[in-house]
Amino acid sequence: MKILLIYTGGTIGMIHDSESGSYIPFDFENLQVQIPELSQLDCELEVISYDPSIDSSNMNPKIWTQIGKTVEDNYRKFDGFVILHGSDTMAYTASALSFILENLNKPVILTGSQLPSGVPRTDAKENLITAIEIAASTRDGKPEVPEVAVYFEYQLYRGNRTHKVNAEHFEAFESVNYPALAEAGVHLKFNRRYTQNTNDEKLIVHKKFNPNIGVLKLYPGITESTVNSILSAPKTAAVILETFGSGNAPTYTWFLAAIKKATAKGILILNVSQCQGGSVELGRYQTSKALKDMGVLSAYDMTFEAALTKLMFVLEYTKDIEKRIELISTNLQGELTL
Ligand code: ASP
Repeated sequence: MKILLIYTGGTIGMIHDSESGSYIPFDFENLQVQIPELSQLDCELEVISYDPSIDSSNMNPKIWTQIGKTVEDNYRKFDGFVILHGSDTMAYTASALSFILENLNKPVILTGSQLPSGVPRTDAKENLITAIEIAASTRDGKPEVPEVAVYFEYQLYRGNRTHKVNAEHFEAFESVNYPALAEAGVHLKFNRRYTQNTNDEKLIVHKKFNPNIGVLKLYPGITESTVNSILSAPKTAAVILETFGSGNAPTYTWFLAAIKKATAKGILILNVSQCQGGSVELGRYQTSKALKDMGVLSAYDMTFEAALTKLMFVLEYTKDIEKRIELISTNLQGELTL
C-alpha cells in the first residue's frame, strides 16, 4: 500500500526549542528519524510538507482547497492519505474536505497531536502510526474507510461530525451525533455499519468557497443593535443562527422582524443548535415555529463546523436559491441525520 503523508502544520510536527521555550517546526522530511517505528509499517510512505507550515488558527478556504488539490494531484498514485494538521481547527478542515472531495473512494485521515513528537509522553507517535494503519486498511480489496475522517487518541470519527472539545486531554475530539468509525485497541476495529461505501464515480474536487457567512450566537439579553449589526454586515450571504436547545430563539417582536428582514433580502439563515448533541426541530416549540415560517433552515444535527463549511460550499456551488436550500437540507456527505 502507498500512503501519502501531507504535513500542513501543527504540534505534531514540532519540537520543543529549549532556547526560546516555545514549540518550533522540525523538518518533516526527516520524519523517519523522529519516529523510527514508521519503517516497521507494511506500507510505502511519501511525505509532502507545506512550506511554511501552518498553525491551524491560520487555516482558511484557500488552504483547504490547496489540500484538496494535493489529494487530487496524487489520487491515482496513492491508496490513502494522512493529513497532519493542527488540532485547533482540524474539525473545520475535515468538514470542508468532505465537501471538496466528492466521490472520494480512498481514505483521507486527518490527525495531529496535543504534544510535539519529541517529548516523552507525546501522543503524536500513536496518532500518526495508527492513522497510517487505518489509511492502509482494506477489506476484500477495498479501503475500510473511503471517506474523510479524524483519528485522535484511539478513536476514528467521520470528519464532518467532529468537534474539538478539549485543549488539555489527549481525547481532544468528540463526535456526539455519529458513532465512531473505528476504535484502536489491541486490534483496529472498524464499525462497518457506519462507514461510507465506495462507488464507481470519478473524484470531483470542488475548489470554491464563499466566506461571507455571519454568525449570530444567541444569548439571554442579546440586544437589537447586536442582532442588526450581524444581519446587516456588508456582503453577508448567509448567517448561522446559533440557537438554544432544539432550535429555539426569542419571540420578541424586534428579533423576529430583524430575521424576517434578512430572509426577505435573500440572506440564508441556518439554525444550528448550541447543544452538541441532538437535532434542531423547527416548530417543536412556539419559539422556533416563527423561525420556520420565515424560511429559516434547519441544520438538523450538524456540527457548527459542518454547517459553516457546507454553507460556504453551497453558496459557491449554485446561485439558484431553491437549489441552495435543497442542498443545505440534504445529507450530502454524511454530515447530518434526517
Ligand atoms: N496551535 C496548534 C494548531 O492547531 C495546536 C495543535 O497542533 O494541536 O495548529
